[in-house]
Amino acid sequence: MKKNIGIVGSGIVGLLVGYKFQKKGHRVTIYEKDKKLNLTNCSITGAGMLSPFCELIHSDKKIFDLGFDSILRWKEIIKDLNKKIFFKTKGSLIISHKEEVADLESICSRINSYSRSNFSLISNSKLRKLEPAIDSTDLNGVFFKEEGQIDSEQIIDSLSRYLTENNSIINYGCEVKQIKNNTLTLKDNEKKSFDHIIECTGLGSQRSKSDIRGVRGEIIKVFAPGVKISRPIRLNHFRYPIYIAPREKDTYLIGATEIESEDFSPVSVRSAIELLNSSIFICKRFSEARIISLSSNCRPAYSDNLPHLKGKDGHISVNGLFRHGYLLSPLIADLVIDLCLKDKKDKNLSYIYN
Ligand SMILES: Cc1cc2nc3c(=O)[nH]c(=O)nc-3n(C[C@H](O)[C@H](O)[C@H](O)COP(=O)(O)OP(=O)(O)OC[C@H]3O[C@@H](n4cnc5c(N)ncnc54)[C@H](O)[C@@H]3O)c2cc1C
Repeated sequence: MKKNIGIVGSGIVGLLVGYKFQKKGHRVTIYEKDKKLNLTNCSITGAGMLSPFCELIHSDKKIFDLGFDSILRWKEIIKDLNKKIFFKTKGSLIISHKEEVADLESICSRINSYSRSNFSLISNSKLRKLEPAIDSTDLNGVFFKEEGQIDSEQIIDSLSRYLTENNSIINYGCEVKQIKNNTLTLKDNEKKSFDHIIECTGLGSQRSKSDIRGVRGEIIKVFAPGVKISRPIRLNHFRYPIYIAPREKDTYLIGATEIESEDFSPVSVRSAIELLNSSIFICKRFSEARIISLSSNCRPAYSDNLPHLKGKDGHISVNGLFRHGYLLSPLIADLVIDLCLKDKKDKNLSYIYN
């Protein structure tokens, strides 16, 4: 039977949940507080790296278990959307200065033991064969060939267009004031009832305001036609760890900084200097790059830094995607569908439901 599904929030989680319901033939209506051309959500800022292995440097093994087949899940979605989306699966690199090779070795063995893999350090010449734009002969690296990346702005745009082209409704500029069971109240006090309401509001969360926190990140987008980097590179550095994620048309995202603060203010001068300096350390030609934008945003996280599905029946909240919104949302969206339509929980992932 066709169900009436209300979704609050059009970040990557809300859109993917909407997409999955729509594919099953249900009627989807999304409410998004921002105007269409002025989306300020975390998903637009996100770098879109799909890095289950590299994330083991900072994250719980559970993130690896949840995200290891993310690339396959994205491949299917992108094939079905049939739109032009920058999605690459050429792997990614962690690099480190030769003096810090011991640290890189210990990162490598941590990743190997958690993921039961057999990664090893590659020489500088092999590294520069993979990415000739790397200048320094003093860098070593580890190559994770099963990782990938997706352009966050393009996938958000494609999913929104796909949904509206296929009879789903997205109400932009429409803030939800309250959700009670399967009824939501809009700002003008209008009430709307659904079979299921899925709250995907990130830091705008209603249900769990007290236990969700923001973790700030900053990104600089540059146009650098002189640089030819083809896959995400993370620089492991004790003071200035950064990542560089290539996008199409000679643009690059240079990002880092994980600050425990719900601070949405613009990028600081110190961060900008450190990010840009580190990029030049990797490839001197970044010094001639042109800055397109500086963005900051906050990642929605629970205290355990894991995603959670809370509530049941009429109102389910999906939140806490933290650093892993792109890595994990294809799986998380499937778990929401199973919970709503089949009342089914994945027994192996009991820590997600509460
Ligand atoms: C700098 C940075 C880099 C990142 N890099 C990566 C990466 O490389 N890989 C990765 O996997 N993840 C990455 N992330 C994390 C990822 O971006 C987030 O996990 C993800 O965007 C969270 O998505 P979401 O849909 O839960 O929340 P959001 O994207 O915040 O979406 C929530 C939506 O709900 C709307 N909303 C809120 N309240 C209301 C309301 N009351 N009524 C109506 N609408 C409402 C908001 O306007 C917003 O559009 C990064 C994040 C940052 C900040």
